[in-house]
Amino acid sequence: MGIYIFIGVIWLICAAVAAGVAPRGRQPEFFLLTLFFLGPLGVGFAAVAVPRDPDTPGRWRIVCPRCVAAQYVRMGAHEFDCWRCDQRLRIDEYGRLLGPSDGAASKNAVQAASTPKVTAASAPVGKTTKSNARNVNTLW
Ligand SMILES: [Zn+2]
Repeated sequence: MGIYIFIGVIWLICAAVAAGVAPRGRQPEFFLLTLFFLGPLGVGFAAVAVPRDPDTPGRWRIVCPRCVAAQYVRMGAHEFDCWRCDQRLRIDEYGRLLGPSDGAASKNAVQAASTPKVTAASAPVGKTTKSNARNVNTLW
């Protein structure tokens, strides 16, 4: 009988340690998982656990395919610039990544927009507002 009490105390200590080393916001779940299921293994799982993504209402979480940086783009946006690698990416209305935007990266787009050789008269109709007015909808 004494061995079960000893094991119960060990598991309770492990649950407390797992709650201590778990990332912020995940302490209760690691305490309960360790206490009821994992035992001493729960401390290791809690130590390597990653924090949950922040809850950002009204934003899509999109991972850049080029540099793997997560970013939170406002819902309704159709394209955005990656905050890390500055690549312009297109998304659909459901937040799914469609790929890189037309042309090169946005740095090249800025250089092309700043050069005076492209005039409104020489640009095709309907393309002038799309190329000149940049619709940047990033959070940061
Ligand atoms: Zn990127």
